[in-house]
This record gives sequence, C-alpha cells and structure tokens, in this order.
Amino acid sequence: MKSELRDLYQEVVIDHSKNPRNFRKPEGANRSAEGINPLCGDEITVHLKLAGDVIQDIGFQGAGCAISKASASMMTAALKNKTKAEAESLFERVHSMLTEGPKSSVNPEELGKLAALSGVWEFPVRVKCASLAWHTLRSALAGSGAPVSTE
Ligand code: ZN
Repeated sequence: MKSELRDLYQEVVIDHSKNPRNFRKPEGANRSAEGINPLCGDEITVHLKLAGDVIQDIGFQGAGCAISKASASMMTAALKNKTKAEAESLFERVHSMLTEGPKSSVNPEELGKLAALSGVWEFPVRVKCASLAWHTLRSALAGSGAPVSTE
C-alpha cells in the first residue's frame, strides 16, 4: 500500500474512533444484539430500527479499542436506509476484505470509507476487533438476540 494511502486510511480510522457516528440507541429501535471480543475487551451493542426489510436507523453503544469503534461507526454510516439483503452483501464483502486481504476478490475502493480497514488483515488479532460490529449486526438482523462472541 502506498504510504499516502496508509496515512489517509489511518486518519479515517482515528476520526471515526474519536467521533463515532450514530453512537446512540435510535428512537424506535426494535432489534438489538450484543457482541463481545474477549481477546481485546471490546463490547458493543448494535441497535436497529427495522421497518420491513429496510434498516431505517442504526446505532451502536459500548466501549472498545479504536479499530472496533471505527469499524462500528463506519458500518452504521454505510447501512442507514439499506435493505437486509444489502447489509448482508456488505457484511460478506467486508468480511472477505478483513480475512483474505489481497487474496480477496473484493476491491476495497468499492467499499467507500470502509476501505480504511483494508490493512487490518495483516494483524489477525485486530481482525476480530474490526469484524465484531459486523457479526453483532448479523445477530441483530437475525433477531436471535443471542450475544455474539468472537471466541
Ligand atoms: Zn479491539
């Protein structure tokens, strides 16, 4: 990765971890799930206001490291007003980017701001931090309400 790009991505991550977007429980939220990453100590709750198949509003609460917060923040920004199917598709692409890195068929540039997480695959411990919000989202969408753990 070019160093300018790396710097830019780092800035995006720092921005989202310091000023997380949608860091709240949306009014009228009707789904939620908890996720924990014991390895790092990240704990987040994802809240959804689901209307039919559409995520009308989404927010998160909790505490965690910069990567877990930035990933959750970018996720909420990316998924507002998206359908469940679109959310599932984005989950698959982000997961592939995080776990397969350059071997992934996903071009990070197509993921908007989430491309800032494209360097995380090099640090397996951090992959769990970055994917926590996404697994928690999936649980909230499934409506199982079962807590998610990365372990
Ligand atoms: Zn973490």
